[in-house]
Parts: sequence; structure tokens; C-alpha cells
Amino acid sequence: MKYAIFGDIHANLEALEAVLAHAAAQGCTEHVCVGDIVGYAANPRECLDVIRQMGCPVVKGNHDEEAILETSLEGLNPLAKQAMEWTRNQLSPEDREYLGNLKLVRQVRDFTIVHATLDTPGSWTYVTNKFDAMASFSYQFTQLCFYGHTHTPRIYIKGDSVEPSEEMTVTLEMGRKYFINVGSTGQPRDGDWRASYAVYDVENQNVTIHRIDYDIQKAQDKINDAGLPEMLAHRLSLGK
Ligand code: ZN
Repeated sequence: MKYAIFGDIHANLEALEAVLAHAAAQGCTEHVCVGDIVGYAANPRECLDVIRQMGCPVVKGNHDEEAILETSLEGLNPLAKQAMEWTRNQLSPEDREYLGNLKLVRQVRDFTIVHATLDTPGSWTYVTNKFDAMASFSYQFTQLCFYGHTHTPRIYIKGDSVEPSEEMTVTLEMGRKYFINVGSTGQPRDGDWRASYAVYDVENQNVTIHRIDYDIQKAQDKINDAGLPEMLAHRLSLGK
């Protein structure tokens, strides 16, 4: 059995469809989403429809939460504020209910999923180094946990110490714990524009992070046609 694990889709339907097609070709029959389905790009409802139709386990991201709040957006930078206002106006009552019911942490089979961190999942802090990962490991009760939020794929391994792995494939060893950032499907920020997601191969006990080409021009045209800030289209090409 193989799981496709993806997140930070951010309303980029072209990237999501490319990931799902690639995952099917890899033999993935199960799907899991680590949150941030909406926000930034032009297809929040369409992405929500795809995820809902698959009926897959999903955890809530900070953009999923922000999109259904009615609080002021004054604290956000102008770019994020404009995108979030637009996103809020797109969502139906059913979309809002779905997002509102998402949990922060879930266990799926033998692994855990969370959007940001396991130590303070609702605070939306970022795991960007091994010390942050160490804090999260203290609350990780499965060997394997997948997360997102930083939009940068990363594999942290807890054995005697916590070390990030440069490799994009890891074979799971008994007695070690793994905290794996699957990267962002819809808005990568590691300088590589291609969509990112992970495949967990249960039989062979390994995890691989894949990077996938998608129709970026189409996604950018949609962002511009929707009247969203031009920078949101531009940054997709930069992978930032
Ligand atoms: Zn995100």
C-alpha cells in the first residue's frame, strides 16, 4: 500500500491535479492532506471539492482557519490581506463548515499528520531547524509524522540526536522517529517552482519526496484573471 501525502495546496488546482496524477502513476491508492487547502491562488472551492470527493484524512492549516474567521485582517501584510479577503468571499457555507470541522492533529494508520508542529499545533509556529524539530518530537507518539507549513520539504530523523537529511528518500529504521515536511503542492518556497509531495510505501517502509512539473502558466493566468495581486502569480515561478 502506498500513501500520497500532500499539503499547502493554496488553491492551486493545476498543481494539485498534477500531484494526484503522478501519485496514481506511482501506485498510490491512499491520500492524506496536511492542510492549507485554500489561500493565495484562484481555485479554493475547486481544490476543496477535489479533497472532499476523495474523502481523505485532512488536518487544518492556518489559512484554512483564517479563511473562515470573520475577524479583521488588519495585522496581515497587504498582499496576504488582499488574498485572504478574496478567498473569504469565494467560500460557500458548506466550504466553511468543512474547514471549521478539521482537526489540528490526526493519526492515520501508523502515522500522525499535523500542519505546523506537534508541540503547539494551534500556534502555527515553524519548524525550520533541528531544535524546532526536537520540540515537536517530544509530542510524537508514532514513528512517523508528516507536516507542512514552511513550504519546504525536509526530513528530520530522531535517533540519538535530531538531524535533517539531505536525501529525498528515507528508509525507516526501527527505533528511530521521522518528522517529514512534504513540501508545498501549490506554492513551494525553496527556490524550486515544481509541486512537492511525499509517497509513503508501507510494504517497503520508505518515504520519498517527489517534485512534479505542472501547468504553472495556467495557474498564473487564473490568479491574474481573478484580480488577485500579480505578485502571487509571479512568485510561483520563483518558487518563493
Ligand atoms: Zn501554507
